[in-house]
Amino acid sequence: MGAIAAALQAVHARIAAACAEAGRDPATVQLLAVSKTHPADAIRAAFAAGQRAFGESYVQEALAKQAALADLEIEWHYIGPLQRNKTRAVAEHFAWVHGIDRLDLAERLSRQRPESLPPLQVCVQVNVGGETSKRGVPPDAAVALARQVAGLPRLKLRGFMTIPPPSDAPATQRGYFRVLAALLHQARAEGLDVDTLSMGMSQDLESAIAEGATIIRVGTAIFGARQG
Ligand SMILES: *Cc1c(COP(=O)(O)O)cnc(C)c1O
Repeated sequence: MGAIAAALQAVHARIAAACAEAGRDPATVQLLAVSKTHPADAIRAAFAAGQRAFGESYVQEALAKQAALADLEIEWHYIGPLQRNKTRAVAEHFAWVHGIDRLDLAERLSRQRPESLPPLQVCVQVNVGGETSKRGVPPDAAVALARQVAGLPRLKLRGFMTIPPPSDAPATQRGYFRVLAALLHQARAEGLDVDTLSMGMSQDLESAIAEGATIIRVGTAIFGARQG
């Protein structure tokens, strides 16, 4: 078995253990393989090992890899920062966008989403740690933005995404993820049709699963340290 297939197997074992601990069905946790900075061949190896959803953060890099991998049925997720001059490429070349944090950019994505494609699946990004360096709306603004995004015709609001401040302490990690889980509950209570918590990375996926993550975004644990 190749290194990437073995690493994927190890991540699936971590997911299974975390789900057993939390009393959850592993089928309710989707693994998004974060392939940013890694070459198309690494994605091809993960695909051969059964992985289908890949996350990219840089538009130009992603488009080049998509072209090189056009023979594979990959579900592409854009997890990077949204820039005004890149929304058209994102609207045309991805199935999901995890980092919606401004209504005007969401409106552009909706306008630019080709009619030939299904609605763009999106999550509102929430800055649970209040760090000035991180994107995302504050928790108390998240449901209001979600409601506005839900009204855009060519987007399908799925839920919330976060990148919490790094911490080695499971209790601290879980506290941040609990904020996102509470927002999902609140949005549902207010009648929004949402089902997704995009949270948890290589270091903290167990804590995220314990708090209800439905998509974990894992790069380093699958592909190794980022290149370049
Ligand atoms: C890079 C990245 C990840 C993956 O992080 P790892 O620590 O390598 O697992 C997840 N989410 C986002 C938004 C990222 O930019």
